[in-house]
Amino acid sequence: MLVLPSSENKRLEALRSYEILDTLSELEYDELTELASVICESPIALISLVDKDRQWFKSKKGLSATETAYSFCSHAIINPDEIMEIEDAKLDDRFKDNPLVTGDPKIAFYAGVPLINEDGFALGSLCVIDSVTKKLTSQQRKSLTTIAHQVMDKMELRRKIALLQAAEKKSNQLVNLSLTSYSKSRVLIEQAPVAIILFRGKDLVIEEANSQMLELLGQNEQIIGKPLLVAIPELEGQEPYHLLFKVFKTGKTIYGYDKPVTLIRNGLEELGYYNFTYSPLIENGEITGVIDMAVNVTEQVKARDVSKRLFDDLADLNNDLEAANKEITSSNEQLVAFQDELLISELRFRQMADNISQLAWMASPDGNIYWYNKRWYDYTGTTLEKMKGWGWQNVHHPEYVEAVKEKIKRHFESGEIWEDTFPLRDYEGNYQWFLSRAVPIRNEEGEITNWFGTNTEITEQIKAREKLEAAQKELRASFQRLEEIEQKQSIAISQAKLGTFSIDGSTGVLSSSPRLREIFGYLPEEEMSYEAALDQIIPEFRQQVKLGVADVFNNRVDFHMEYAVIGRSDGIKRWVKATGKLYRSESDAKGQFSGTILDITEQKEDDLRKSDFIAMVSHELKTPLTSLSGFMQVMEFKAKKTQDEQSAMILDKARKQIGKMTTLINGFLNVSRLESGKIHIEKQRFDMKELVKEIEEETVPANTSHHIIFAPVITTWVIGDRDKIGQVITNFISNALKYSAPGTTVQIACVAGNGCSVVSVRDEGMGIAEKDLSKLFDRYYRVEGHELKGVAGFGIGLYLCSEIIQRHNGKIWVESTAQVGSSFFFSVPVEN
Ligand code: ADP
Repeated sequence: MLVLPSSENKRLEALRSYEILDTLSELEYDELTELASVICESPIALISLVDKDRQWFKSKKGLSATETAYSFCSHAIINPDEIMEIEDAKLDDRFKDNPLVTGDPKIAFYAGVPLINEDGFALGSLCVIDSVTKKLTSQQRKSLTTIAHQVMDKMELRRKIALLQAAEKKSNQLVNLSLTSYSKSRVLIEQAPVAIILFRGKDLVIEEANSQMLELLGQNEQIIGKPLLVAIPELEGQEPYHLLFKVFKTGKTIYGYDKPVTLIRNGLEELGYYNFTYSPLIENGEITGVIDMAVNVTEQVKARDVSKRLFDDLADLNNDLEAANKEITSSNEQLVAFQDELLISELRFRQMADNISQLAWMASPDGNIYWYNKRWYDYTGTTLEKMKGWGWQNVHHPEYVEAVKEKIKRHFESGEIWEDTFPLRDYEGNYQWFLSRAVPIRNEEGEITNWFGTNTEITEQIKAREKLEAAQKELRASFQRLEEIEQKQSIAISQAKLGTFSIDGSTGVLSSSPRLREIFGYLPEEEMSYEAALDQIIPEFRQQVKLGVADVFNNRVDFHMEYAVIGRSDGIKRWVKATGKLYRSESDAKGQFSGTILDITEQKEDDLRKSDFIAMVSHELKTPLTSLSGFMQVMEFKAKKTQDEQSAMILDKARKQIGKMTTLINGFLNVSRLESGKIHIEKQRFDMKELVKEIEEETVPANTSHHIIFAPVITTWVIGDRDKIGQVITNFISNALKYSAPGTTVQIACVAGNGCSVVSVRDEGMGIAEKDLSKLFDRYYRVEGHELKGVAGFGIGLYLCSEIIQRHNGKIWVESTAQVGSSFFFSVPVEN
């Protein structure tokens, strides 16, 4: 291998690595130069090493110098693979001037074998020198090369030994160092803030453990030297033991965090938590043990547990908080919605309040009114400007305002519902009475947020109350009067010899006063039943009385009747006027029919005498009237004949007057006949339709003043006196014509229903006042004022009608409104 000069530094370095330069001579090298000198038959043999600027001889034979300047060897190593042999130096240009050639030892011959180390660096040469020229034999050359190898081997050996020694030295140093570091580490171990334990072998024999570890384990130094499971048997089956063993087997470090380990300390099982590192102990590439470093973190774990719990609690709390937050948000939203709703409902409320009939207002808690409804402004004719706050006093009556103010102030302060009654002035300046009320509106905290007030007009109620009070006053006065009257009446009753009676609606029992019994021909102390009393009524009236009494109970009509009784014991005929009515109470649903009976025999007999007289006079008048009427007709006929128009006209008028007179007299005659019982009802079966038609035919052509309309009639058969019923209809029609203005309409109808035939005559005349209606069918009754209107009459017609209808077990009545018109009705039963 060619070593280039560029690598001279590396060569020199390699040379120095042998640490051979300037060392003492050594026998082993000297023996080799001796051998070379002998074999090559040369007096000088050298082991020359080429240093930076000298050649140093490790061994020299036949030369005293230990070193020399550059010369032959430096050339020899230029070509390391060859032996450089110079047979005669004096002939070689490289050396002929060399002082070793020219001077002593006068070198002539030179042969050098390069000394090449393992890395190919030529370090020097093994050379033989002679002062005579010569040439080596091939054997000599081979031997010289072999010896050169030996030199080199020796040098190599020397280097290795030096290396070994250095290594040994280092190792000694290291051992020393490790010894110190061990003792240092022991101190460290001992003082370490962690617990350390060292295990050896597969049984994990405890070799070392610091006091922290002993304390951690709850042990003392006695565990040292014992296998782990002997020293700490409770570890068997626990994870750390398995892990330690794993580390021992695999050589891989294991870290544990917060591992639970149960140890027996002071005889008690204790659960602790540990962070640990189990590292393998590797010696000479073999796992010989495990180093365990542990830190007791029980407190931290527990603390962490606590803090975890705390954290959990906190998280819970947070969740709660979040939920609460959500709730708040949603309730906030609700609140907003609610406020919106409130706003809407307030608007709606105001709208509604605007439309109510009451006056309404709202005030702030201090009583300042800030809103009135429309009705308020409509009624008072004011504006919010004028009414705001306490401005409402302006529409109050000066007499009441102070009291109102004082009271409402009190209520605004106390928060009690306010109620007051006072007048308020309307837009025209009139005062009306109002019942006023205000309620406080409170929020959830119970604080008043508003007052809502209303004013309800009660003028009518006040008036009604005043009326009521007046009425009550009057009533009281009336009661007083009544009492007085009653007192007088009882005197009157006894003086007027009124009989009193009462019939019980539910039992039908009659109670009667002694006077009544007397009238009926009983002794005052005698008992008289209802049936016994009826027996004393003359047959003509008996049925009528029975029906009248039934009517009182069934239809609650008042009882007014005149009839005759025959005294039971004395057989005397007495006329009585009976009046009475039904008194009912809640406890007595059927009621009591009570009344009085007055003996009117005398009066009646007077009347009868009068009507007899009237009848007689009428009768007497009738004959001359009839002749008079006849004469008139003759004269009228004659006047017409002689064309005496005026006389004819006068005679016509006179005849009409006579006709009227005749009607009147007939009326009186009828009354007197009726009252003397001489009027006879001759019943027959007839068709109401035919009768009405007949009347229509008689009436319509004769009438020129009114519109007379007969409604269509259907066949209705009744049993009755055809002439007399006809007389009633005619009477109704003539009254209608009499008491209504010409040109108005008179309508006649006849309908059937409910077992009756009902005839009605309706006019558009002057009508009859309410107070007169009940008396209209009385004898001689005329409505006051009607005669002033020039209508002739004696109040007999309707009386006769009523008598006729009653004798047919029918009903007669009138419906009328003054100035509007009247409708007269009668009904008679239809044929079954
Ligand atoms: P008169 O001969 O007086 O008409 P009536 O007995 O027929 O007697 O009537 C009694 C009173 O009833 C009359 O005086 C009259 O005041 C009133 N009357 C009867 N029919 C009518 C009628 N259709 N409209 C108004 N008043 C009437």
